[in-house]
Amino acid sequence: MGEPIAFRCVSCGREYDPWSVDYACPRCGPLSGTLEVLYDYRALARRLVPGSFAETRRNSLWRYEELLPVGVEYAVPLRPGWTPLYESPTLAAELGLGALWIKDDTLNPTASCKDRGTAVAVAAARKLGRDACACASTGNAATSLAGFCAAAGIPCYIFVPKNAPRPKVAQLLAFGAMVFVVDGTYDEAYELAIQAADRFGWYNRSDGWNPMVVEGNKTGALEVWEQIGEASLDFALVAAGDGSVVSGVCKGFQELVKVGLADRVPRVYGVQAAGAAAIAHAFERHEQGRPILPAEEGADTVADSIRVGKPRDVVKAVRYVAATGGGFVTVTDDEIVSGAQELARRAGVFAEPAGAAPWAGLVRLLREGAVPEGAKVVLFITGSGLKDPEGALRGLPEPTLIPPRIEAVAEAVGG
Ligand SMILES: [Zn+2]
Repeated sequence: MGEPIAFRCVSCGREYDPWSVDYACPRCGPLSGTLEVLYDYRALARRLVPGSFAETRRNSLWRYEELLPVGVEYAVPLRPGWTPLYESPTLAAELGLGALWIKDDTLNPTASCKDRGTAVAVAAARKLGRDACACASTGNAATSLAGFCAAAGIPCYIFVPKNAPRPKVAQLLAFGAMVFVVDGTYDEAYELAIQAADRFGWYNRSDGWNPMVVEGNKTGALEVWEQIGEASLDFALVAAGDGSVVSGVCKGFQELVKVGLADRVPRVYGVQAAGAAAIAHAFERHEQGRPILPAEEGADTVADSIRVGKPRDVVKAVRYVAATGGGFVTVTDDEIVSGAQELARRAGVFAEPAGAAPWAGLVRLLREGAVPEGAKVVLFITGSGLKDPEGALRGLPEPTLIPPRIEAVAEAVGG
């Protein structure tokens, strides 16, 4: 495995011995002091060749064990990662793109990309000998943690806001987690999870708080690089709520360059809902040369997975995205909903609203000229439509009720 050499604070740059700190830089505090995991990239560059990952013969994110902080011996028996990458030449031609790929992360064990961060965080909990896990989440990270804790046979304590979609709550209960539905926002649930984990000694997987999460998230980018093969990639788009997923995507592409497996990184764009765009706004301030301060704004969008008013990985997300030459784009709820329908109808991938936000983001970036004609683009689809069927049904007509007679079908289809 990768053997981290340090955990570094993303704000003050102070380095800590690996595993000497669990979550955030004690000097900078939880909001700006998120940690990043560093490796000996020169040693890895000597060891890794393009075929190294395939040689493991593991069809999961553990094929990237060399670039992960925890070894596969701590993995729980579920299969996170190594999800399909679909190429869509028809859609690419219609949009004027050189290539369009869809990374279908709905096909993870609990049906969202959050299984990547969870897989590494729960493996870390086992390595560290922690006997219970906790997490605050808008829904997907929580269901993911509940599933992995179930497979690991350790207790799981979950804090979700009261507006979490019912199917996600159903998953949590089915996996046997102790679920606290917090009568408040996600941001309030988040604070409560930190306090509770601290008091009761639970290992906290929450996005933006636990540095293992970005390590797992980065494997989505590693997979895309491996699955695309010789083709080059110009742009990668992914939805952003807390900022941990987009940070992971950036870190994955950056590390491929650091270990000498890739020549350049694609421009990464984080896609946010217009009503929950705290990172996009922080990015704008950063572009104007102002400091990246922890932002707190309102959060109102149909896309519950990115309904975050106080993003915890904002510093990392802004820095990492800027380093790729990418940016942030915001899309309206109408664009997200119609994006989800387009994605389902045109590509056969059923995404929850947040999962489809990259499609809406791509349409907007094409219109604005930020993504030029002929570009090669990947969209990360982060969560299944089955996670939020009510969201998926918005704007769709009710199906036709007919009597059980063939004439009724003939009448309906005009034959
Ligand atoms: Zn610090």
